[in-house]
Amino acid sequence: MTGKRAVAGGGLGEGIPVARGDLHDRREAALARLAEVKAPLLEASDRAARELRSCAGCDAHCCRAGCNSMRVSRLEALALARRLSEPDLAPRVPEILRRAREEIRLRGLCADSDATYDCPLLSGEGRCLVHGPAQPSGCLTFRPVPDGGCDHDLRLFHRHYGKVERLDRRVFGRRSRPLPIPLALVNVLPLHRAVR
Ligand code: SF4
Ligand code: SF4
Repeated sequence: MTGKRAVAGGGLGEGIPVARGDLHDRREAALARLAEVKAPLLEASDRAARELRSCAGCDAHCCRAGCNSMRVSRLEALALARRLSEPDLAPRVPEILRRAREEIRLRGLCADSDATYDCPLLSGEGRCLVHGPAQPSGCLTFRPVPDGGCDHDLRLFHRHYGKVERLDRRVFGRRSRPLPIPLALVNVLPLHRAVR
């Protein structure tokens, strides 16, 4: 298995209709479109779990330091914050933030670092807390592969990530860049109530 490394963006996506309007409208339209763009990734991830091998029983080393240096776009971070505001996960946010800050300190995470880290969205049972439409694109395309082990489906990732990047730029501009998940969460979670 190779590590769940941050994967480079896939260039320009296809034309993506996003409503013109104020920031709120653009953000809401982009979040809705992001869920559509990720739907085939989620479907492929769940199909691999059914047909190849389930992650059940694995220690989820792909989400831990040594393997995991996943980054998320700013819009993906916002989708994570939305998911974490739902009633089943909201009570866990203080603990998730504490773990995110601890990882940043421990691994020296910054925008330019490619250090690996323990993902603060991994449950104590080794389960991704956000598996579903809000799960980052890079995570949805990392999974068991037919010849054994686990790896990135880079073809699928690159086919879709250009669209994710382009949506991000539509809302946040060209200076937006993907960040390691702990940094992205620390940036977006405290602000999330203010921008909803
Ligand atoms: S993708 Fe592979 S390494 Fe990661 S949790 Fe699933 S089975 Fe384990
Ligand atoms: S978001 Fe989920 S799948 Fe991705 S690194 Fe974190 S725990 Fe693993």
